Amino acid sequence: MNLIEHYVNGKKYAGNSKRKSKVFNPATGDLAAEVNLATPNDINYAVEKAKIAFQKWSNKPPLQRARVMFKFKELIEKNSDELTKIIVSEHGKVFEDARGSLIRGLEVVEYACGIPQMLKGEFTENVGTDVDSWSIRQPLGVCAGITPFNFPAMVPMWMFPMAIACGNSFVLKPSEKDPSCSMRLAELLSEAGLPDGVFNVVNGDKEAVDALINNKDIVAVSFVGSTPIAKYIYENCAKNEKRVQALGGAKNHCVVMPDCNLDQAVNGLMGAAYGSAGERCMAQSVAVAVGGIGDKLVSNLIKKVEALKVGPGMDKKSEMGPLVTKDHLNKVKNYVDIGEKEGAKLVVDGRNLKLQGYENGYYIGGCLFDHVTKNMRIYKEEIFGPVLSVVRVKNFDEALKLVNDHEYGNGVSIFTRDGDSGRTFANQAKIGMVGINIPIPVPMAFHSFGGWKRSLFGDQHMHGPEGVRFYTKLKTITSRWPSGVRTDPEFTMPTLK
Ligand code: NAD
Repeated sequence: MNLIEHYVNGKKYAGNSKRKSKVFNPATGDLAAEVNLATPNDINYAVEKAKIAFQKWSNKPPLQRARVMFKFKELIEKNSDELTKIIVSEHGKVFEDARGSLIRGLEVVEYACGIPQMLKGEFTENVGTDVDSWSIRQPLGVCAGITPFNFPAMVPMWMFPMAIACGNSFVLKPSEKDPSCSMRLAELLSEAGLPDGVFNVVNGDKEAVDALINNKDIVAVSFVGSTPIAKYIYENCAKNEKRVQALGGAKNHCVVMPDCNLDQAVNGLMGAAYGSAGERCMAQSVAVAVGGIGDKLVSNLIKKVEALKVGPGMDKKSEMGPLVTKDHLNKVKNYVDIGEKEGAKLVVDGRNLKLQGYENGYYIGGCLFDHVTKNMRIYKEEIFGPVLSVVRVKNFDEALKLVNDHEYGNGVSIFTRDGDSGRTFANQAKIGMVGINIPIPVPMAFHSFGGWKRSLFGDQHMHGPEGVRFYTKLKTITSRWPSGVRTDPEFTMPTLK
């Protein structure tokens, strides 16, 4: 049995825990590995090593830190097939989608290569007579990242390349459902020349997370996962005086206006609702049909959802893979049952899908509900599976209100050929990321990623310029070099006359 340990101070570390968790291959349902679950002592050991490493790493010139990132980028490219296969084998998503998610993480590494430019600071000569002032951003110390199962490469890479390039050391606690990709990334960072202890991976569950929250040497925590845990992390890190950004769940709407190019909208929705089996925080799980477009939209969707090719992620013909675990499959099926009981019209039912040769895999076919209303649980709650709900509304204002009244505010999109509708929507939507004729508006690495409302607790979004701000603290220095003239004490606030 393959045993996954931790990665601390530049090498694998078994830890002291007797507790393990099982890692499955979702395509077959086979047990693939066991992972050691870290104890508080294991966590404290990793943080201690990261604290020691921080001393030297934070003093390295940013250009030297950038060079490690350049090398890391090369190594990810060289090993991209292997990393992609690891993602497929533990998460289940299809190969090309897994590769795409790795590349979106790689783009953050590319952005982090420019860290010398981003840390240049600001300088003002003569803020007062013969007085100069400059502002610099300095690293924080040991930062931690806690990440979800659905992007085992990309989400950790939203965090640690920025944190490390800024001069911090980092302890990552990936999802215990698919931990192997993070372990391999840690090895590649060592190969890229990152000093031991700057990047560490500890595997574990709530016990490990609580130990990170309670460790006084962790100064900042980045979290991505479901909203209840995001709120828990946010509250407890704040209580323990840590800087925190905690990204939570989502229910992303796609507003389909009567004037849109319907083919574009339907194709956009298909990829956004069923890609990665709906296990994306930016997946679209609600289509809002405006005016009279509902019937056409639903009939076009039905044909495509029924034709979806579901199969193992390594099969090139598969468009959608299995869900991550058996528990998750049952949860998603249960939501479909609930939707039927609530009175929504299930127009495509994927619950009974069977794949020959993969009878034990965690598969479900695409599901489509019509006539969903805003009081139903399938509308209000995040399902995180390939289930799309169509809600019908009379007009643009009703669509916008629906979007804005939802508790989540991660992503949204509108399909329209009318510039006024597109612009007004972008301006009025209470959502962090908005797409106009773009189904999944995920910002590139040099912008920043984050939602509003209960999709993000904290002030800063991830990566891009916000990432630099999150992983550094501002210091402003004011200096004067009097030339031999003794000054008298000043008892009033100095002001410029
Ligand atoms: P999750 O909240 O169950 O787990 C996330 C992390 O928290 C994991 O590392 C897990 O080990 C840890 N954790 C789980 N339970 C905990 C507890 N009780 N106490 C402390 N730590 C705990 O999320 P998941 O199922 O792995 O991922 C799916 C969720 O992540 C979805 O809600 C999805 O929307 C969200 N997500 C959000 C974004 C975003 O950018 N907003 C991105 C990706 C995923």
